[in-house]
This record gives sequence, C-alpha cells and structure tokens, in this order.
Amino acid sequence: MADPRSVEGLKQALQRLPGVGPKSAQRMAFHLLERDREGAHQIGEAIRQALSRVNHCNRCNNFSESALCPICSSSKRESGILCVVETPADLEAIEQAGIYHGMYFVLMGHLSPLDNIGPDQLAIEQLIKLVDAGEVKEAILATNLTLEGQATGDFLLDLLQSKLISVTRLARGLPMGGELEYMDSGTLHQAFSDRRSV
Ligand SMILES: [Zn+2]
Repeated sequence: MADPRSVEGLKQALQRLPGVGPKSAQRMAFHLLERDREGAHQIGEAIRQALSRVNHCNRCNNFSESALCPICSSSKRESGILCVVETPADLEAIEQAGIYHGMYFVLMGHLSPLDNIGPDQLAIEQLIKLVDAGEVKEAILATNLTLEGQATGDFLLDLLQSKLISVTRLARGLPMGGELEYMDSGTLHQAFSDRRSV
C-alpha cells in the first residue's frame, strides 16, 4: 500500500537534512509518528522559533538573535584582531579550545566554483566593509585545510593584505584536509600559536 500523502511529505522534508537518505528519513518519520509525537511537536516548535528569531549578526555574520551577537557586544574581546572562519561550527571549535580572544568573521561557506559559490554568495562585501571601518588591524585567516578552504584563504589574502598591518594563516602542520570543526583543542592551539605571516 502506498504511503498516505502526509507521511510521504514528511519523509521528503526530512531528506533535506544533510546526510539523511530515503531509508533514514523513513525511519525518522515512522518513529516520530508512531513513538514520539511529543518529540515531533518539540522539533516543529524549535524549528519555527529558530527560524523566526535567529538572524545574522550585523558585524561578524554569525547566527544571532540580536543585531550584535554576544561576542561582538562583549567589551572583553580584543577588537583589533579578526579571525575569519568558514562556519559557525568552526567558530565554536575555536571558542571551546579557549585559545583566542579577538573578534570573528563568519563567511558561511567557502568558495566552490563547481557548486556555483563565488564571492557574491559569501559575505565578502560585509567583511570588506568591516575591515574598511578601520578598527581591525590584524586578520587571521582560519579557513579549513581543504582545497576549497585554502583557495578561499588565498582569495581573502589578496583582498585583505593591502588593508591591514598583519594577515596570518593557520600553521600548515595541521593534517591536510582537516576541518577546524573536528580538531581537538591541542591541534587548534598549535595551529594558532604557529600561524604564519603571509
Ligand atoms: Zn557578531
């Protein structure tokens, strides 16, 4: 018997999540409908709430519920230094390692010509505006050590080098292909302390 249309719709919707194929989507849909309707309500409500409240910080482009995120509004951070990362997950990894006390800029991705992601699809213009405002003196390009991440770093280097006193990149002692998100604090600490001027 074919699935009722709403079950099919739920499965299709769940498949939009990264890493979820038809089988897992089906398992999740059946689980929510049969075993955990309360959980399903909770998920629905959490998604609705996040969608209506979460936007981007005006300064660093990270997710934020207010115009300025807690890091950008903190008086305890060094405002002259800017660490540019690809994703909010990379920022979290650096914060959790407790190795850095400056500001951030979150690109929300990396350049990827094959996926039609060019500078216009990332928040490059916002980054340039922030740097041109003059408070930032030094940038750390902390893009991932993947091909796309490094190409994004090269691109940013060309853009920022003439505008700042110092632009550094994370040490390449890191495993190539490494994504910051999955690195332990020790490796991240090493990458930050051994970062190179370019
Ligand atoms: Zn911010």
